[in-house]
Amino acid sequence: MRLAVLKERRADEARVAAVPETVRKLIGLGLTVAVEAGAGLPAGFPDAAYAEAGAEVAPDAAAALAGAGIVLKVRAPLAAGEGEVDELSLIPRGALLIGTLGADKEAAGRYAEAGVDAAAMEMLPRITRAQSMDVLSSQANLAGYRAVVEAAGAFDRGFPMLMTAAGTIPAANVMVMGAGVAGLQAIATARRLGGRVSATDVRPAAKEEIKSLGASFVGYEDEESRAAQTAGGYAKPMSAEFLAKQGEVVAAAIGKMDIVVCTALVQGRRAPILVTEAMVASMKPGSVIVDIASDAGGNCALTKPGEMVVTGNGVKVLGFRNWPARIPAAASSLYARNLLTFLTTFWDKDASAPKLPAEDDLVRGVMLTRGGQVVHANFAAG
Ligand code: NAD
Repeated sequence: MRLAVLKERRADEARVAAVPETVRKLIGLGLTVAVEAGAGLPAGFPDAAYAEAGAEVAPDAAAALAGAGIVLKVRAPLAAGEGEVDELSLIPRGALLIGTLGADKEAAGRYAEAGVDAAAMEMLPRITRAQSMDVLSSQANLAGYRAVVEAAGAFDRGFPMLMTAAGTIPAANVMVMGAGVAGLQAIATARRLGGRVSATDVRPAAKEEIKSLGASFVGYEDEESRAAQTAGGYAKPMSAEFLAKQGEVVAAAIGKMDIVVCTALVQGRRAPILVTEAMVASMKPGSVIVDIASDAGGNCALTKPGEMVVTGNGVKVLGFRNWPARIPAAASSLYARNLLTFLTTFWDKDASAPKLPAEDDLVRGVMLTRGGQVVHANFAAG
């Protein structure tokens, strides 16, 4: 069976869905691997490294996809009118497409129409068995790290307390908004750099995790926050009253902060605004806000997704999009391993092909379409 790896053509994307190390293992499963020329270059993996790993380097998307039974992508393939190549139309009918596919009803309909069996890895249930295939976690972890490193780069002072013969520079005060996978990594990274770190979240479990990393918890707790976690482990959307109370606590602390790292998300919704314009106005010149939630609108009212803004009072707001793609070699390696693990978990050795039992929790979670039909419970009609 032939497996194709395409170049990512969407804006702000630098990752690739397979790296030479995973290509070797895919070939070990019995697959023939075709990688579109230049696919790994933005992440630092040249064509020659794929060729050395045993892949065929195909000159373009059409050549890579010809006869493919499996297609690996980071982001959804471009559809008609979305860019230079209509990637979706080039994927052979019946092929298994695996990627973060921006799952929604329209996308599912498009994949069904194209006759592609689409596995949307961002829909994978966050259960223990799925941890090694969990693309959201692997990518969020690196985004949290990268955000702090970029904040340190944009900050005119330093993170650690520096005691020198010429005097002492105080440690940076860092506040992390949202302590999920990205936020916890941001806390750990800021601590490693020597910052004095506090964090806020709404889920009760997050408070313990914040403290276990040596940061202090800043937040408001009431009956609502004690029930703020869904069965899937995500935060529930909080009421306007709760957000106002939480805002008061954050506002009291934020004026002393040098760095604010925003990571708070609520599944399927716009990111909550946790840093208001008034809060930014209370911050010192030279402070830095990094907003990883920018792809979902951002946690800071002044975030401009895709841009860095410098406010009137000299606060930098870094609202770049797609933070994992800002550390593309590491993000690609982990993403590629997630996909490889998914394939090997469901690999049928005898058939030398993936076998995806419809009743399996993970399969049910990710499969949007099969055999030209929308099968995902969230998007199927009726
Ligand atoms: P996420 O990206 O959806 O959200 C980031 C954080 O923002 C969360 O901690 C959330 O509670 C927080 N948040 C939401 N609204 C907020 C508000 N108003 N104020 C402050 N914070 C707010 O979360 P995630 O990183 O994807 O993690 C979600 C959950 O999944 C967590 O419980 C995590 O432990 C769990 N998880 C489990 C596994 C596993 O077992 N396989 C893997 C990864 C994550």
